[in-house]
Amino acid sequence: MDEDQKPNNVNGDESMEHNAVQWDVKNQQLLSEVCRCCPDSHFERRSKELPHIGCCAYEPVFTLFEVYKMIAAEKTEFFLEVLYRNPRNTIHDYEIVAGAFIHPLFYQRDSTSLESPAERYDKLRQSPHTVYKAVDERLAYAVCQFFIDGKGCGLNASFKTSICRSFICGAIEEKLSGDEREWLGKRQRAIRDEAEPFHRKYKTVFHERGWTLPNNIEEIIVYFEQLSRKQAE
Ligand code: SF4
Ligand code: SF4
Repeated sequence: MDEDQKPNNVNGDESMEHNAVQWDVKNQQLLSEVCRCCPDSHFERRSKELPHIGCCAYEPVFTLFEVYKMIAAEKTEFFLEVLYRNPRNTIHDYEIVAGAFIHPLFYQRDSTSLESPAERYDKLRQSPHTVYKAVDERLAYAVCQFFIDGKGCGLNASFKTSICRSFICGAIEEKLSGDEREWLGKRQRAIRDEAEPFHRKYKTVFHERGWTLPNNIEEIIVYFEQLSRKQAE
């Protein structure tokens, strides 16, 4: 899911590594050279004017796992400025959705259509049967706020969400043999198995204390700072 970022240290099960997918052991993420020229038709842009960014037409969801990693790395100011206080982002009780930049073409009618993509989006989301199409309609004009044109992901790789670190699309999977797909599945599960139980555990802990991200950010920061010190001992 990363257009241009090279792995700092590709390692792991070398025998299973495929040249379409690399494992960045330092940042526990999967990378692919194929992303430089994304072949996946699902992420095809609606207009030539839109930057071709593959699956980074996305709004990453940061869980308590990534929040903890930022605080443990003493990047609390970064977390507060870039994620928590960013008006583009939506702060849920235990997750933060990083809102994408939406290209101006989303709001414009072209000569072949009676409605703009934004108007189509509004119509599609009225019904539970078409709401998934509404999401696709909007994301076709979206650029992740961390995407840097010509470079790829601009976010510190160790703060990327587990989805961003593990997503490999069907167009790449098609290039892999059965054994390579098995290798890939193992890596993807390892990424999820580190992040998801952590998120669930501390969601329960904070829920029991009546803490949420919107209302108790100071308490949560102090809690994670103490947890990080304990884990370093
Ligand atoms: S993972 Fe697939 S969809 Fe995403 S940028 Fe790479 S090739 Fe494109
Ligand atoms: S955080 Fe990085 S990898 Fe994830 S969608 Fe944004 S630019 Fe792509």
